[in-house]
Amino acid sequence: MTLFSELGLSAKVLQAVEAAGYTEPTPIQAQAIPHALEGKDVLGIAQTGTGKTASFVLPMITRLERGRARARMPRTLILEPTRELAAQVEENFNKYGVNSKLSVALLIGGVSFEEQDRKLQRGVDVLIATPGRLLDHFERGKLLLTGVDILVIDEADRMLDMGFIPDIERICKLIPFTRQTLFFSATMPPEITRLADQFLHTPVRVEVARASSTATTVEQKLLGVSKKDYEKRAALRDLIRDQVNLKNGIIFCNRKRDVSDLFRSLDRHGFSVGALHGDMDQRSRMAMLAGFKENKIQLLVASDVAARGLDIPDVSHVFNFDVPIHAEDYVHRIGRTGRAGRSGAAFTLVAKPDMKYLEAIEKLITREIDWLEPIPESSSDDDDTDRRRGRKDRGEKRGKRGKEARDEAPRSEPEATATAEPEEQTEKRAAKPPRKSEPRKSESRGDRDRKGRRNRDDDGPAPVGFGEEIPAFMMNGL
Ligand code: ADP
Ligand code: MG
Repeated sequence: MTLFSELGLSAKVLQAVEAAGYTEPTPIQAQAIPHALEGKDVLGIAQTGTGKTASFVLPMITRLERGRARARMPRTLILEPTRELAAQVEENFNKYGVNSKLSVALLIGGVSFEEQDRKLQRGVDVLIATPGRLLDHFERGKLLLTGVDILVIDEADRMLDMGFIPDIERICKLIPFTRQTLFFSATMPPEITRLADQFLHTPVRVEVARASSTATTVEQKLLGVSKKDYEKRAALRDLIRDQVNLKNGIIFCNRKRDVSDLFRSLDRHGFSVGALHGDMDQRSRMAMLAGFKENKIQLLVASDVAARGLDIPDVSHVFNFDVPIHAEDYVHRIGRTGRAGRSGAAFTLVAKPDMKYLEAIEKLITREIDWLEPIPESSSDDDDTDRRRGRKDRGEKRGKRGKEARDEAPRSEPEATATAEPEEQTEKRAAKPPRKSEPRKSESRGDRDRKGRRNRDDDGPAPVGFGEEIPAFMMNGL
């Protein structure tokens, strides 16, 4: 067993870790921290909820204890795909940095520039940002990145995805070539690894579990459903009511408007429910998340904006109202439960047209998921309606990503092939002008995924995460 004290962390950091109640490092922490402290580039892969954040935050704080920040020249930079995740990483700095007096600034969209500017002016040790807002500050001449010694890209495969990659490439050109770069994720498709290599210099690859293995603490189940939305919603309600251990849950939909529809439907049926997606204003997003964390809302209906990284320790259930189109998203969505050694349950509703996506998921995670109930036989009746819907949806134009909306999640919602929608909804949508925040098309990501899956035939070792057995300390008092 490795101890935190053997990793080379500073005394102040060790005290903070102890105060946080951690008795031993998780495998990714034990393996990545020494390399990070030596200044090496690291590509760290470990399952969801296994402490990747501290794997970069702790060595960063240790290294930052020497030296001082200068005005407008941050010393380190962390990039995150969503505002909520960036805010969460800031909380991690507050927790682990209590003894270290570091200045931390959060640059995220949806909130005012002034406060962020003031902090930059005073000089920051750690800048945590979503890419678009960071570039906005840069373009306003308020920020210099030439002093950045350490660059962290969290959720790295998502950040190198096509929506983000132009911003990432630009940001990386503004940072000295001699910097240290750290990449972390639970998933890392081979084609993204190749891309990652362009940003890393002779990295140490620390892989405590095969990339894309699901957390061992999450019990996964499939529920066959009709593809008709109202029947799916009824099936979801029954499923939720059947759960004896439901403390709270996140319900993922593939599309933002389905998030709103399902939210309203569950609300009408008397569930304690909130909604979270990328088109909501930042204040509502924060309020929803806070309400969920504080148990004021039991169920949170969300888009994939909530799929990555969010660490809400006690989420007991994840429900996929839709099978995710990108197989990696499945790993991240269900990874919102079963964190830090706790147990969790993940249910995925599967209709006939979703089978191809399910197959891709099972191939990615290299395991078959058990069925609670098979897909009902009668569910093929509505094929004709679905074809009509599909045609309408294909007619819908997608707008270019606007500059002001670019700070996060520039990924298209899937085309309407996965789930059926009520006809009138589709009409309304098609009549709407393209939204500025609507991201680019996802075709090439889809292609890449398919290619990636072909490449994923060699499996590597079995998943470990927190180790074969969950250490007792993770189970106690959590
Ligand atoms: P990941 O990024 O791998 O998904 P996080 O960094 O969000 O995971 O950590 C998941 C949870 O595990 C957090 O609530 C964190 O406080 C907790 N945690 C991290 N390291 C340890 C540790 N060494 N011992 C116990 N809990 C830990
Ligand atoms: Mg994380």
